[in-house]
Amino acid sequence: MRAARLHVPGTPFVVEDLPTPVPGPGQVLIRIGGAGACHSDLHIKAGDLPGLPLPQTLGHENAGWIEAFGPGADDQGFEIGDAVAVFGGWGCGHCRLCLGGHEQLCDTLLWGGMGPAGGYAEYLLVPSTRQLLTLGGLDPVLAAPLTDAALTPYSAVKKALPLLVPGTSAVLIGAGGLGQYGIQFLKMLSPATVVVIETDPAKRKLALSLGADVTIDPRAGDADDEVRAHTGGDGAAAVLDFVGIDATMALGVAALRPQGVFVLVGLAGGSVPFSFFGVAAEASLTMSNWGSRNELEEVLSLAQRGDLVSNIEQHPLSAINDVFDRLDRGLIAGRAVLVP
Ligand SMILES: [Zn+2]
Ligand SMILES: [Zn+2]
Repeated sequence: MRAARLHVPGTPFVVEDLPTPVPGPGQVLIRIGGAGACHSDLHIKAGDLPGLPLPQTLGHENAGWIEAFGPGADDQGFEIGDAVAVFGGWGCGHCRLCLGGHEQLCDTLLWGGMGPAGGYAEYLLVPSTRQLLTLGGLDPVLAAPLTDAALTPYSAVKKALPLLVPGTSAVLIGAGGLGQYGIQFLKMLSPATVVVIETDPAKRKLALSLGADVTIDPRAGDADDEVRAHTGGDGAAAVLDFVGIDATMALGVAALRPQGVFVLVGLAGGSVPFSFFGVAAEASLTMSNWGSRNELEEVLSLAQRGDLVSNIEQHPLSAINDVFDRLDRGLIAGRAVLVP
């Protein structure tokens, strides 16, 4: 099969021929229909994930069709040819996180594409049918990014939902691939006023079309004051930061009202001071790391109902290096999906 592998961090992917994997006990072989090109793979490609085995096939946002079952995997409700989304946060399957339904928090190096081979290839070996969800008529190209680009903001929004009662506001920072889904989930699941902070005018326009109530350009005027003016004066009940640099974290934490929550999603590596008198009373600071298998089922059901707007461009797997170059330069407005 054709696969795009990273041999040396910081160098381009190499598209090459590899043996097609044969599923072992309990495993399932998926023929890839689409694999989302995720921004986090830029970090991994640059060498930011210690312990990553090399060479490595990256790609953790996958959907396609069941090609073959390993022994014991063929009697668990799926058939050859079924269209499926792959839940990518694979774990050991038997620790308290995995058994508690948060397999994605078990061990990052067990995730497909970060230890085991991922989906920038013609075929993907999945450890268990528990990581498969039926697509119910969704196109695999459209479904692939839902497994991360939509699941991650969905899980972040759910963490904030208990605070987003009528009359409150939510601030979302960064309306890129993930933030665009985040805006939709906030509007769909909460009555809060949604304030979007974004530097790119095209993305601010897109944010409004996706339901944002207000957009703010943080580079124009005093962003703190502007956020305050649009969050009812006492601040935001929740802030979701899809960027995660020092400046966005400082802006976000300053925007919180007492008992508000700041949810860090962006992987840019920033930090923010958190002190007794430095932040709103009883504010909390948390992060959201991907989402659970059951949350993915919820995301897919919203997509199946036609409730999600996806901004997707499709490219052949052979163009992976061009796609990652454009991703690196911020030239992909929504999500790019690689098709083998
Ligand atoms: Zn990702
Ligand atoms: Zn586990």
